[in-house]
Amino acid sequence: MKIIHNPADLCRQLAKRRKSQSIALVPTMGCLHDGHMHLIETARKMADFVVVSIYVNPLQFGANEDLDRYPRTPEADAKRCVQAGVDMIFHPPTLYADAGPLVSLHVQQLADVLCGASRPGHFDGVATVVNILFNIVQPDIAVFGEKDWQQLAIIRRMVRDLHLPVQIIGVPTVRECDGLAMSSRNRYLDAADRRRAATLSQALKAMARQAGDGIHDCATLLATGHAILHEAGIEAEYLEIRHADTLQALHRLQHDQPARAFLAARIGKARLIDNMPLD
Ligand code: AMP
Repeated sequence: MKIIHNPADLCRQLAKRRKSQSIALVPTMGCLHDGHMHLIETARKMADFVVVSIYVNPLQFGANEDLDRYPRTPEADAKRCVQAGVDMIFHPPTLYADAGPLVSLHVQQLADVLCGASRPGHFDGVATVVNILFNIVQPDIAVFGEKDWQQLAIIRRMVRDLHLPVQIIGVPTVRECDGLAMSSRNRYLDAADRRRAATLSQALKAMARQAGDGIHDCATLLATGHAILHEAGIEAEYLEIRHADTLQALHRLQHDQPARAFLAARIGKARLIDNMPLD
């Protein structure tokens, strides 16, 4: 497995591969866990050559967010990638000239709600860096996690709007035994907060169960979720039910509209997100 730091080197190396092999890209910010590994396994099944990018993208962090303390574990990441059969890690020191790009992408509507409402500019930063990675790697497929559902919906829309020649694959969320969605930010939790954090998926699961039992009124489903969070002393930054693709708010579940419940909450030092389908 090669670790490449320079975009021009990567382009050169991949140009040779591209003639005979399909290329998959798995974009990450590193500190790899089993969730990332599941993305890599999917990429390996679907393409001949797998590139994992590791880049903590400053453009997607707000001024008071955790850019500086975001965990960076390059040696452990490289080991996991070797074990997982990754062909190449792309680990650039930066992707932007000077203080940042003068030309960037702006995402409308989809980026104004959920995480975008409290993290203005976040999805512009995500779209810009993913577009840059697509330009450098020129993958046939790119694999993203459903854990960041809003990000996945935005990337799918970006690919459509910009006519990018890449297939986007979404991979279901990988969870800890107690249901907590795996995340690099789970490292910020102390033992007590870690136990409390399992409540997030429990609240979503209870809502999904109720929806499955035929309760279609979103206010009722949301009240169930809030009650479970409240009991654990957790106040959601948001708990919402939205259309899975358009992210428009829903008042009632309908058979012809895919719906998901979305949740964000601050627990101790971590801001955690999760989502689940309401079938
Ligand atoms: P990150 O390194 O957190 O930016 O995540 C990189 C990619 O891994 C994104 O596509 C995430 O959605 C995905 N990912 C993160 N956590 C999980 C998880 N628990 N299960 C599945 N995919 C995940």
